[in-house]
Amino acid sequence: MTVAERVLFDALKRPLPRYAVAFLIFALAMALRLSIFPLDAGYPFFTFYPAVVLTAMLCGTGPTLMGIALSAIVCDLLLIPPSWAATLTYQAIASISVYAAFSIFINFIIQKSRQGSVERSLLAAIVRLADIAIISKTLKGIITSWNLEAERLFGYTASEAIGKPITILFPPDKTHEEEEIIAQVQRGESLTHFDTVRIRKDGSAVEVSVSLSPVLDLYGRITGVSKIVHDITRQRVYEEDLKLSNRNLIAAITELKRSNKELDEFAYIASHDLKEPLRGIHNYVSFLLEDYASLLDEESRNYLDRIQRLAERMTALTDCLLSLSRPGNTPIPMQTVDPNVVLNEVEEDVRPTLVSLGVKLRRAGRLPSVTGNSLRIREVFQNLIINAAKYNDKPQKWVEVGCEHTRAVPVYYVRDNGIGIPEQHRAAIFRIFKRLHEQNKFGGGTGAGLTITKKIIERHGGKIWLESTEGEGTTFYFTLMEGL
Ligand code: ADP
Repeated sequence: MTVAERVLFDALKRPLPRYAVAFLIFALAMALRLSIFPLDAGYPFFTFYPAVVLTAMLCGTGPTLMGIALSAIVCDLLLIPPSWAATLTYQAIASISVYAAFSIFINFIIQKSRQGSVERSLLAAIVRLADIAIISKTLKGIITSWNLEAERLFGYTASEAIGKPITILFPPDKTHEEEEIIAQVQRGESLTHFDTVRIRKDGSAVEVSVSLSPVLDLYGRITGVSKIVHDITRQRVYEEDLKLSNRNLIAAITELKRSNKELDEFAYIASHDLKEPLRGIHNYVSFLLEDYASLLDEESRNYLDRIQRLAERMTALTDCLLSLSRPGNTPIPMQTVDPNVVLNEVEEDVRPTLVSLGVKLRRAGRLPSVTGNSLRIREVFQNLIINAAKYNDKPQKWVEVGCEHTRAVPVYYVRDNGIGIPEQHRAAIFRIFKRLHEQNKFGGGTGAGLTITKKIIERHGGKIWLESTEGEGTTFYFTLMEGL
């Protein structure tokens, strides 16, 4: 495009210059008409048709309609006999109508084709700049178009590639693919995501995914093939990376399972074997206290008492370790469990403790059945209810057991109006032997109850969490199946 053309096209983007140019074109048409024929020689619109075409092409519909209207008025005044008179004879009306209708039709056709060319150039721009390689070729395999991404992917510029056979991109062992592709396209079929290898200008191979579709002419005949080519080298690298990380993950999980199992076995054996010498210590101290009490002074008896209590405590701790490691060792048998029945049994067991602590147990509706191990589920309810009763300093103590149906799976809960659990300790309480209080506070304990509870719940595929307000109470929530 020359500088003058560019200036003209830039000016014609604004309405005022468009109308001015239209006016000028029609004025020139008038001058031309007057210079060729005398006023009343007939052919009034002779020079206006080219003016309509030119205005429609350059200025658009509005200025063209203005030009048509102006030229019709001027023609009626001057060129349609009698000249210099605005007499609308039938003949004048007929000739102006034909001119106007024909001109509007010309304008319509031109605007349509302008729109088509805008769409075509838009499409061409999209194809040119698309970040996938888009290539078209004839049915004989000769490249006819080649976008920027094709240049980047294969290293050939458009001028180097267009006119060449597409087989310049094929490795020698894949040239048969072209015949198969063309045969398929000639049958009118498209081809999507065909993974193959192509060769760049520098001779290096590139893994690509090719999609093809036939190009049809106005009459529906197949005239060529358009081709979209994705570079999948990076995707392949990601896939390989993903496979590798999956393999590593599986290996790590297997290793973790193995070491967990070993740890459980170790804890089980250690706690089991520790029980025997502990029992011995406890028994011998008892013998000493029973048989030699009279020989011992007050201080020695106190020491022996303490040794006995410590041995008892250590026995309790090893018992906890035993029960914590036991569920991990063998698969636990599962059956349909009615937690209401389980809760009846728990209530029976914990009644003396609740009575002695002055705690009221209430049940908020029926609990839905679940697949699990009733003995273990019983342990979960028992641990949580005993804790809810123990860690309570209110005059009116209560514990509530119920189930919420707000999630995909039933969420059981044990709620109390007890002392609450400070935010910063909420994760720690699930650690083995972790107590938040001195040994003799709130009825004592080993600090293993919640660890065991969590482990049982997780072995059922469930989860445990809590909500708590210090001084107001705690709710432990848990599920007994996967799917939260
Ligand atoms: P234990 O009760 O034997 O100490 P747990 O593992 O059952 O061991 O509990 C760990 C700690 O969590 C307890 O020492 C207590 O401080 C806290 N805890 C558990 N349940 C509650 C509860 N319902 N309210 C307040 N604190 C609780």
